[in-house]
Amino acid sequence: MSFAKESVREAEVAGRRVLVRVDFNVPLDGGRVADDTRIRAALPTIELLRERGAALVLVSHLGRPKGEVRPELSMRPVGERLAELLGCEVRQAPAVVGEEVEAMAADLSPGDVLLLENVRFEPGETENDGALAESLGRLAELYANDAFGAAHRAHASTEGVAHRLPGYAGLLLEQEIGELGKVVESPERPLVVVLGGAKVSDKVGVIDRFLELADRILIGGAMCFSFFRSQGSPTGDSLVEEEGVQLAAEALDRARESDCELDLPTDLVLGREFDADTEVKAGEGIVVPDGWMGLDIGPASAAAYAEAIGAAGTVLWNGPMGAFELPPFAAGTKAVAEAVAASPATTVVGGGDSVAALQQFGLAEKVDWVSTGGGASLELLEGKKLPGVEALRDA
Ligand code: ADP
Ligand code: MG
Repeated sequence: MSFAKESVREAEVAGRRVLVRVDFNVPLDGGRVADDTRIRAALPTIELLRERGAALVLVSHLGRPKGEVRPELSMRPVGERLAELLGCEVRQAPAVVGEEVEAMAADLSPGDVLLLENVRFEPGETENDGALAESLGRLAELYANDAFGAAHRAHASTEGVAHRLPGYAGLLLEQEIGELGKVVESPERPLVVVLGGAKVSDKVGVIDRFLELADRILIGGAMCFSFFRSQGSPTGDSLVEEEGVQLAAEALDRARESDCELDLPTDLVLGREFDADTEVKAGEGIVVPDGWMGLDIGPASAAAYAEAIGAAGTVLWNGPMGAFELPPFAAGTKAVAEAVAASPATTVVGGGDSVAALQQFGLAEKVDWVSTGGGASLELLEGKKLPGVEALRDA
């Protein structure tokens, strides 16, 4: 996955307008930005371009307005937070494209920053509509994509517009691809991959890829119940993805042929319901009786996984080990997070909920690379091409 795209560092930007696709899809709380991690992650590209005398037109999506103007998903609070972080004025466009926005873009001087409205207010965005890409292209002379978290989508602002303007890779995009690329291309061994979360179907592509590349795959989260069901083990009321059972059976077959060891939990923590106040008990092995559901890996599994993580050369973690949002079922995820944080290995964590768990435990700083892209990081690790990257200029 050697990176063959031209970097924004190489672009001649002085005195020119650059349309930058950023990922400002941040959580909001009462009209304020609740977590500005993604805004901060885009600052290096924004600051580089301003220092080099470019005028910036920034574009992002926020939430899922589904092609309609939804005032509660306006970029306004994001622009306010960005202005604080940059220490400069951020002009806010009243719409994504159109005459008024074109006039605002034309009025920019070197160093100025204009933030467009939520690009998903436009139905053409997710349809990768040519007319929208054209209108976006009229706002600038160059394009840079720094929205790694959206790069697996072929949308007008991530893909279409890169065919209208010369497109460069932003610094975050480059770094994400570099750090995730190292895991698959030249990992320090043993390479240990920890996979959890809700669905096997989301992650089966990654399991397949790492059965070829990794030394060990450790499975936790709800997805282990698709594996247990496929082995005929009782799963009680646990969350079992029906489609995942066949996929899990196939993965187990492939694991037998591969040099990679695929580990499932050997014990579980059970609850009556998906609720923090539910009755809780330690499972006997992996058997889940009727009336109970498996909501976390058990202490023996957590200890075994932590030991493997401590002995690794490279660790990739995607997906929580249990329902970590509920305190009685957070211990497995916490043990894995602590082991990842303490491991001398090169550690990489991706996935929205896994990153949220790391932050909840205050351990994000102790990980070598925390990816800003959930779906995009999985597709990249699977070996898929990302449309938002492919459309950029070749180096
Ligand atoms: P990520 O965003 O890190 O890729 P996922 O979105 O795949 O992770 O999965 C996270 C979700 O999986 C969390 O909401 C968590 O509560 C849920 N989960 C994990 N283990 C279980 C379980 N045993 N039963 C039910 N839900 C679970
Ligand atoms: Mg998730």
